[in-house]
Amino acid sequence: MVSYKEIGLVNTREMFAKAIKGGYAIPAFNFNNMEQLQAIIKASAETKSPVILQVSKGARNYANQTLLRYMAQGAVEYAKELGWENPQIVLHLDHGDSFELCKSCVDFGFSSVMIDASSLPYEENIALTRRVVEYAHQFDVTVEAELGVLAGVEDEVASEESHYTKPEEVIDFATRTGCDSLAISIGTSHGAYKFKPEQCTRDPKTGRLVPPPLAFDVLDAIMEKLPGFPIVLHGSSSVPQEYVDIINANGGKLPDAVGIPEEQLRKAAKSAVCKINIDSDSRLAFTAAVRKVLADKPAEFDPRKYCGVARDWMEELYRHKIINVLGSDGKA
Ligand SMILES: [Zn+2]
Repeated sequence: MVSYKEIGLVNTREMFAKAIKGGYAIPAFNFNNMEQLQAIIKASAETKSPVILQVSKGARNYANQTLLRYMAQGAVEYAKELGWENPQIVLHLDHGDSFELCKSCVDFGFSSVMIDASSLPYEENIALTRRVVEYAHQFDVTVEAELGVLAGVEDEVASEESHYTKPEEVIDFATRTGCDSLAISIGTSHGAYKFKPEQCTRDPKTGRLVPPPLAFDVLDAIMEKLPGFPIVLHGSSSVPQEYVDIINANGGKLPDAVGIPEEQLRKAAKSAVCKINIDSDSRLAFTAAVRKVLADKPAEFDPRKYCGVARDWMEELYRHKIINVLGSDGKA
């Protein structure tokens, strides 16, 4: 048993309370590799933004849970080295799908876990979430739960269509599970293809897809039922078209990739939404950089020369999200 407190991590409780009061949101960035982690920590340390490092089930399978946990421990020390005296870093399990997985992360030094039982019937979602909460709270580890279903594909999480969270269920769910935050479905979606072209309109000038707006009426109704309760948005990448264009111009093929417009996320960040998950955008920045370097310099074979550029591009992306979208700079 390793306590996250011993390795310098924090849970989400105080962070979320401050974010709701202050009208900003905490970035939750997924990581699978060293360059991504370096970029996240550098951007967070330089902007003094609290940050949530997320590990998905896919990341555990790809990079190994033990290695990722020690990387997070190293990230705390790296942040201090960069001059961030009191780093506010959370290590969070993204989309935990069983009690055993959540328990193993709690036992291993994670400071926060998500139990995603949203695909189960309502009462089963409550029972499993409750079980994880009871275990995690003994160690002061915070728990995110989910109600409603997001569309899209993220690692092993996939759903054809979305079902908005029902505001009439949230009080009962939050009270009976004791969860610390709630991921809701209001039209965000996992992956780089958040909407099918037929769900969108097309900008006549650019020919680009314009996605349907988020259901802010559902968010408002949820906030009315649970005033001040921390709300989480998954699938909130914006799929920057400049990355998509660079990828497509350098041998890639991402037709009609579309995300959530940043002005909608800015609006959400000012509400009780205090955690916004961003993964696909960093994948796109990484891929765009690598494709461009390899296309421009076909003789290049030193991975540092293209992964290093990818790291710079991701860092710039993270800094942009922190400062211009979530407003979490200077809050840690
Ligand atoms: Zn998610």
